[in-house]
Amino acid sequence: MEELGSPDGDPARSLERGPERPETPIQVVLRVRPMSAAELRRGEQSALHCSGTRTLQVSPPGGGPDVAFRFGAVLDGACTQEDVFRACGVRHLGELALRGFSCTVFTFGQTGSGKTYTLTGPPPQVGQVCLCLQGEGVPIPPSLGGIMQRTFTWLLDRVQHLGAPVTLRASYLEIYNEQVRDLLSLGSSRPLPVRWNKTRGFYVEQLRVVEFGSLGALMELLQMGLSRRRSSAHTLNQASSRSHALLTLYISRQTSQQVSPVDPGEHPVGGKLCFVDLAGSEKVAATGSRGELMLEANSINRSLLALGHCISLLLDPQRKQSHIPFRDSKLTKLLADSLGGHGVTLMVACVSPSAQCLPETLSTLRYASRAQRVTTRPQAPKSPMAKQPPRLETEVLQLQEENRLLRSQLGQRDVKVSGFSGSRVAWAQRNLYGMLQEFMLENERLRKEKIQLQSSRDLARDEQRVLTQQVHELERRLFSACCLHQPDRGPAPPCPCVMVPAPSCHALPPLCSCPCCHLCPLCRAPLAHWACPQRKLHLPQPSAWAPPCSPGSVKCQRERSHSDWTQTQVLAEMLTEAEVVPSAPPLPVGPPNTSPVLRGGATVPNLARRLEALRDQIGSSLRRGRHQPPPQ
Ligand code: ADP
Ligand code: MG
Repeated sequence: MEELGSPDGDPARSLERGPERPETPIQVVLRVRPMSAAELRRGEQSALHCSGTRTLQVSPPGGGPDVAFRFGAVLDGACTQEDVFRACGVRHLGELALRGFSCTVFTFGQTGSGKTYTLTGPPPQVGQVCLCLQGEGVPIPPSLGGIMQRTFTWLLDRVQHLGAPVTLRASYLEIYNEQVRDLLSLGSSRPLPVRWNKTRGFYVEQLRVVEFGSLGALMELLQMGLSRRRSSAHTLNQASSRSHALLTLYISRQTSQQVSPVDPGEHPVGGKLCFVDLAGSEKVAATGSRGELMLEANSINRSLLALGHCISLLLDPQRKQSHIPFRDSKLTKLLADSLGGHGVTLMVACVSPSAQCLPETLSTLRYASRAQRVTTRPQAPKSPMAKQPPRLETEVLQLQEENRLLRSQLGQRDVKVSGFSGSRVAWAQRNLYGMLQEFMLENERLRKEKIQLQSSRDLARDEQRVLTQQVHELERRLFSACCLHQPDRGPAPPCPCVMVPAPSCHALPPLCSCPCCHLCPLCRAPLAHWACPQRKLHLPQPSAWAPPCSPGSVKCQRERSHSDWTQTQVLAEMLTEAEVVPSAPPLPVGPPNTSPVLRGGATVPNLARRLEALRDQIGSSLRRGRHQPPPQ
């Protein structure tokens, strides 16, 4: 079946073509539904014969000559829902909507002629498996899905492959007894006012517009609206729609220049695709409507009459001067742009084949014939994309498509880089790789260096520990020797503390009474546990001798004096016998007033020198020990 609006069925070409003529007629497709089971039971005959794909022959009752009607496409009862979708060229409308045009698809015809079926499929039936939904949450098979479900599927797929961000929104309303109700509003559905302004034309105030991003979400919105729409049963239709329903998709494409989203509550700028399921005209006598049903039928008929009147006036060549009474009904207000404005419109006229319905069928056919002579002046609103010349726009789309393809190829690592750009990439890769290797080598070198430094630090610490122990031992011996050889006190019994092993911390007990020495010079541990009861007795008098305090210590008042040296030399003499190896270089000969001890022999000066060196070593070790943490 030939697709309306796109003769070769190529979407790219249809996109290029667009509604190129300033005046574009409303496209009309005629759908003849199959005879229903009830009609066949009643033995009703078909009065309609399709000849070719565009002409319908009507045989008038009483055997007069056939009347022919020609439309964009004529679809008989054997056509499937997919055939109808294709023949209507809705994809072409969708492409236009993506470019910013305002497009409308509306079904028109007698009640029970198949309008709702054509747009949204059959009414809900229990126990069927499916993906598409209609009314009350009961599934219908995908094959029976109508133009709306098929367009939704196509559109979401198309948007996914566009490569440019697209914002999709939807609104769904019904006009019931001349009142507009929001089918997507969550609260109570109070009637909404229809207003007009210069930029937007007629619009429904406070209508809920819902953004959606997936087919499932859109199907849910459709389902929600369908389940809330008013329908009743009458003689000609068990699920007769009692209101006109308008589902509008707002399509906003964002280019790099236009990224700002539409403010919430404001109507989106961009293309529109509106599906209008009109309630069917009905003869109250034929449908047997009473009470509320009759009121509804009158309201439906009145608005359809207003629509017909507008269409008739729109056919007038002088219409620019004439007034079109769009304000006569809510329906004509909301369809004003689609019928006489800047929209692109498709009408699907639905008829029953039964001879019993022939008067209404003829009325529909005449109505539809008139409608297809109505022209609009399609204009894409403010979208920057649509403002560009068609050639440029196509180019942009082609580039976007190419971009998308390249991205996907890159994702699959199938890019075959060639020529200059290829060598540049290779060069950059080589350079980066070289730098990476260099960094790795340097890191390795630094790691080794660090390990070496750590091991030499550990060695130094060990050495320091050993040295500290030696110093302590020497201090200890110095102290005991000093106590034992105090000349004016006479020999004192050996202090038991001399025999006590060194405490577990680093230092021996203090040798002077200044407070700085009451702590271990290395770890600063208090040395109280070492104190012996007679310690005071054995301690040398501060004036006579004291071990070296750390230079610069504020607590220690004493400085090294000559008497200290005398003491040291006495001690040195004592130690010589047991300890000092006489291989040290001789001391230089001292001045005449030098102590007789110093002048006494060759070994003494040597020992004194050694001792002095030892003292210096002890002093510096102690200083270092105070400033360094104890080894682990
Ligand atoms: P309308 O909306 O025009 O009042 P409906 O779409 O509700 O009519 O259709 C009336 C009945 O006819 C429904 O039960 C529907 O399933 C059935 N019907 C309409 N068109 C077809 C078709 N092409 N094939 C099969 N059944 C159809
Ligand atoms: Mg209906």
